[in-house]
Amino acid sequence: MRPARALIDLQALRHNYRLARELSGARALAVVKADAYGHGAVRCARALQEDSDGFAVACVEEALQLREAGIRGPILLLEGFFEASELVLIEQHELWCVVHAQWQLESIEQAPLKRPLNVWLKLDSGMHRVGFHPADYAGAYQRLLASGKVAKVVLMTHFSRADELDCTRSDEQLAVFQQARQGLAAETSLRNSPALLGWPQLFKEQPASDWVRPGIMLYGATPFEQQQALATRLQPVMTLESRVISVRELPAGEPVGYGARFVTERATRVGVVAMGYADGYPRHAPSGTPLLIDGQPSRLIGRVSMDMLTVDLSDLPGCGLGSRVEFWGKGVLASDVAGAAGTIPYQLFCNVRRVPLVYSGD
Ligand SMILES: *Cc1c(COP(=O)(O)O)cnc(C)c1O
Repeated sequence: MRPARALIDLQALRHNYRLARELSGARALAVVKADAYGHGAVRCARALQEDSDGFAVACVEEALQLREAGIRGPILLLEGFFEASELVLIEQHELWCVVHAQWQLESIEQAPLKRPLNVWLKLDSGMHRVGFHPADYAGAYQRLLASGKVAKVVLMTHFSRADELDCTRSDEQLAVFQQARQGLAAETSLRNSPALLGWPQLFKEQPASDWVRPGIMLYGATPFEQQQALATRLQPVMTLESRVISVRELPAGEPVGYGARFVTERATRVGVVAMGYADGYPRHAPSGTPLLIDGQPSRLIGRVSMDMLTVDLSDLPGCGLGSRVEFWGKGVLASDVAGAAGTIPYQLFCNVRRVPLVYSGD
């Protein structure tokens, strides 16, 4: 069998979830959208079911996948519904629903619902993607309550730059939120992973009725580009690994791989590894991107191809055919690989495909 695989440590996932709740002092919806950022939504939700206050996904299709697998408890749809017809499923499966636009509010007013909904009313506090304008926010809240279709409204917003630790945009957004929610006595939900980890002072005054929405931190990756103390307490959940399937000894001056992008500078032992961009390893990772071979630091060389890539074995005489290569995990952080490849750990994880996901720590 092809040796490429992604190991998923569910114990680490539970550790990170508990840390999110402990650090925030709030209830936490585990964000498992996009197949739990590539980690497998059903298995991750099952592993968290006992601990968790609920889950969040991007759409009703993702929520139904969880319900069909027997996941109970709250599941929030982070973008609500895309068509009014989904309200039937939302009611039937007792899903919680973000309302971010006027047409969604009107659909709820007109829907023939038997049971009242749990709605999370989204404010655009400055990200300018979705959500109600601050001037319309209180009005939307009152209309929802008056509709008779809603049991509870949670006030929410989303930060655009909380991952930038030297940026004051989160303060500004929080002030916009506080202003818009004045006089509205309801629970709130503000923080994603970077807001939760990076801005403890800013959210010190938040009440315990607050809900946080951790995503990337559950999977053990830092949302920050620079070192951050709390983020070092996260445990990586995914280990992407494979093995060396061929070894070449090349003299100096020989090209390796497509496009001859890498040319040996010295006599080089090249290891060929069963891992490629079709598995989700980034094609843009340059020569020099860190990895581990049998636990020892080495580097990618040459262009990543669809099913294979090449690594430098020159300084690792004990390594060769069959050696285990870790691309990211507990030894090489996904954030470091992402930094080298000009992307973010979110995208590395979401892109993982074809390789079997192998779970432990159930
Ligand atoms: C995806 C998402 C989150 C989780 O964000 P992380 O940065 O992964 O913690 C939280 N809230 C909303 C609205 C989201 O769409």
